[in-house]
Amino acid sequence: MEMPALSDLLDLQDVDLEIDRLIDRRQGMPELEQYREANAARIQAEADRDAVAAELRSIELDLDKAEGELEILETRLNESETRLFAGGMSAKETEHKRLEVRSLEGQKEASEERVLALLDQRDVLAEKMSASQQMVASKRARETGLEEVIKSAWRDIDRDIGRKEGRKAEIVPTIPPDLLDLYEQLRKTKQGVAIGRLEHGNCGGCHLALSAAEQKDAAETDPARCVHCRRILVF
Ligand SMILES: [Zn+2]
Repeated sequence: MEMPALSDLLDLQDVDLEIDRLIDRRQGMPELEQYREANAARIQAEADRDAVAAELRSIELDLDKAEGELEILETRLNESETRLFAGGMSAKETEHKRLEVRSLEGQKEASEERVLALLDQRDVLAEKMSASQQMVASKRARETGLEEVIKSAWRDIDRDIGRKEGRKAEIVPTIPPDLLDLYEQLRKTKQGVAIGRLEHGNCGGCHLALSAAEQKDAAETDPARCVHCRRILVF
C-alpha cells in the first residue's frame, strides 16, 4: 500500500524537476553566449573608436600648429613685400630684402604643403571616425537587443519558477523531515531523481527490473529502497 507521504514526495519531485528544467533553460539560453560575444565586440569597437579619436585629436593639434605657422609666414612675407615695394632702400638692403622675400616664399610653400597634407590626413581620419562610431552604434544595438530578449525570457522563466516554488511550499510541510532529508540527499547524487515508482517490476529511477525476492527485500526498509540504485521506491 502506498503511503500518502511518498505520493506527496513524487509530486514534490515532479515540481523540483520542473524547477531544475526551468533553471537549466534560464542558464542555457543560446542568447547568453551571443550576448557575451556581442558585449566583447561592443567593448572592442569602443576601444577601436577611442584609438581613432586619439589619432584624430593628434592630427588636429598638428594641423592647428601648422596653420599658425603658415599665418605667421604669410604676415612676415606681406611685411617684407610691402617694404620692398615701398622702396627707398639702398641697393644692398633691397637685394637683402629680395632674398628674404624669396626665402619666405619657399617657406610658405612648404608650410602650405604641410597644411594640405595634414588636412588630407584629418579628412581620412574623420571618415574613419564616423565609420568607427557607426560600428559602435551597431554593436551596441546588437548587445541591447540580446539583453532585452534575455531579460524578457528570464522574466517569464522566473515567473514560472515562482509558481513552482509556491506549489513546492504547499507540498513540503506534508512530508516528514527525515524523508525530506533523504530525498534531498539522493537528489544531489542521482541527477535530481530521488524517488521512483515500481512499474511492471521495474524501478522508476534506474529502470532495472526487480525480481519478486528483490521487491520483498526492498519493501523491508522504511522507506522502501531500490536494491540496484538505492532510490526511494514507491510500490
Ligand atoms: Zn533503481
